[in-house]
Amino acid sequence: MRITLCSLGYTKRRVASVARVEATAMRIRFVVMAFGSLFFLTYLVKCIDSRKVYIGHKVLRVIPKTKAQVDFLRSLHSFFNNEVVDFWTHSSLRGTPVDIRLAPGQVYRNITSLLNSHNIKFQVQISDLQSAIKRKNRNWRNKREESSWFEKYHTLAEIFSKLEETAARFKERVRMITFGKSYEGRQLKAVEIGSTLHIPKPLVFINCGIHAREWVSPATCMYIIDQLTSRYSDDITVQQVLNKVDFVIMPVFNVDGYVYTWGKDRMWRKSRSLNPGSQCVGADLNRNWGFRWGEPGASSHPCSDSYHGNSAMSEEEVQAVAKYLESLGRRLVAFLDIHSYSQMLMFPWGYTKAHCKDYLELMRVSKAVVDAIKTKGGDNTSYVFGQTSDILYIESGTMKDYLYGHLKVKYTFSMELRDTGRHGFLLPTRLIVPTAREAFEGIKALVLNMQLNDQ
Ligand SMILES: [Zn+2]
Repeated sequence: MRITLCSLGYTKRRVASVARVEATAMRIRFVVMAFGSLFFLTYLVKCIDSRKVYIGHKVLRVIPKTKAQVDFLRSLHSFFNNEVVDFWTHSSLRGTPVDIRLAPGQVYRNITSLLNSHNIKFQVQISDLQSAIKRKNRNWRNKREESSWFEKYHTLAEIFSKLEETAARFKERVRMITFGKSYEGRQLKAVEIGSTLHIPKPLVFINCGIHAREWVSPATCMYIIDQLTSRYSDDITVQQVLNKVDFVIMPVFNVDGYVYTWGKDRMWRKSRSLNPGSQCVGADLNRNWGFRWGEPGASSHPCSDSYHGNSAMSEEEVQAVAKYLESLGRRLVAFLDIHSYSQMLMFPWGYTKAHCKDYLELMRVSKAVVDAIKTKGGDNTSYVFGQTSDILYIESGTMKDYLYGHLKVKYTFSMELRDTGRHGFLLPTRLIVPTAREAFEGIKALVLNMQLNDQ
């Protein structure tokens, strides 16, 4: 993997610093290859289909204090973001934490010595990821019997059966939609919800679970579906919302990846498509869209967690959902892509620092959403908001930029749910409903604040 330092405007000192990252990258790649062969041999010997384990993996919290430190972390991210150095969050702002999972041994020693040599302070957020996963699984199993459906995480089969049940129960106002199939042949399902299904209204599309490991995202979509359906008859705000728009909500976009997180690897993020010529599997379904695809902010390396795929729209899930979204034409007025974690609300652009043409309007609506989350959500939770490239980083080939840039949907957002890193992707079940409840307050505010007359 090479970058042109001159083209990036790097100074002599920064070139030296990047050279060090590069040398470390080579050392770590060697370790990964050595580990890879070892794992392969073990696999052959045992001949079992085992779960991925994270014994000794740590999650570090790193807080860059200067612009040079932010730049250094960014170059580290562009070299790695893989099996052994896995960025859980990102930042382009000084003082905003970045969480990185590190494999133990040589990888850990190399990366922490690089951080030390740049005077970047860090603390260990999770000291042994495998124990944390085990602990959570134990708690969740114990809780499965005693709590309500929405206070638990669910398998894909359980989610789909709940969707069918909801569509059957509220058949005047809810219908199932199937967009097509995933790479591994699973159905891509959503529900359409309206005040009535007879007269189509402007439509809001919400999807969850585009990144497999972000479990609170599908759980939140399911809670929103429940609130929009079960509370329609007695909640005046839900009525106002559904008298203004219809919803299509897709609780699990990355169905193959989600199933994989339940059975094989809790920290899996990408799709499960095979990459010709590489042993690494999958593409980042939020870097594969055909708008500014393959530009900075996505990786061309199949082993990276932000791999953009073989070509624009190469992933079957992306093709199927894009086809449906295109068919909606001007009826599609808003889009929300729900992720975790970081507590952020963002809008386009991701691919450029230049502000989008609706910047002021999207800032206005974002503020209303974030205010509703804080004041009506019940837990006084704070969300940061703004244009992605301002508050996070440059990213290309995203679903959000495609919706805004290609499909011209003005009210386009992505949301990063709770938390801010204490639990990260392993958010406890007791926080599912509080997280989803405040997100739902935000969504109602979004719909009620949209101006639809110029659409
Ligand atoms: Zn995500």
